[in-house]
Amino acid sequence: MYLKALEIQGFKSFPEKTVLSFGEDITAIVGPNGSGKSNISDAIRWVMGEQSTRALRGGKMEDVIFGGTARRKQLGFAEVSLVLDNADRMFQVEESEVMVTRRYYRSGESEYYINRRSVRLKDVNELFMDTGLGREGYSIIGQGKIDEILSVKSADRREVFEEAAGISRFRHRKEEAERK
Ligand code: ATP
Ligand code: MG
Repeated sequence: MYLKALEIQGFKSFPEKTVLSFGEDITAIVGPNGSGKSNISDAIRWVMGEQSTRALRGGKMEDVIFGGTARRKQLGFAEVSLVLDNADRMFQVEESEVMVTRRYYRSGESEYYINRRSVRLKDVNELFMDTGLGREGYSIIGQGKIDEILSVKSADRREVFEEAAGISRFRHRKEEAERK
């Protein structure tokens, strides 16, 4: 499993459709201050289902949509697609590639797709659960995350280990059943 490509359109500082193709040998993204490096990691977080605007370095969800510049009008929606290799069937879909897409409109409407099939946020969360990726995963270590892991409550720390052990889906199912 590896990251194959990221397609960004209308997200933060990317008004035009931008395709980043990651070979297996890309290890870093460099660029001047303010050029959009962190916006790329925000896009990855966001397409994997991040709901916290603070984690996305914004105040409200609308802040992820390209807000316009002196020369360019603001856009009406943001769209990000993440393409992952699935040759080893780490993800529970039939295809050997997984494309997850998230679209968000200024009206507040959200859309999620897995391999172009319309799905719910819950399906995106389940796709990534126990893979170490996704909202509760540890594949993206932001500033302060290490401190958080070291200092948070032991129950929260256990969640990190449950995710690594591949058993968090069982806790989620149990909690879901108990809510019903
Ligand atoms: P640094 O090296 O300082 O960490 P960086 O490459 O990580 O910089 P980013 O934080 O990714 O830079 O990009 C910041 C730029 O993105 C700013 O110029 C900001 O105005 C722009 N930006 C953020 N959100 C939006 C938005 N919704 N619309 C347009 N531009 C945006
Ligand atoms: Mg940055």
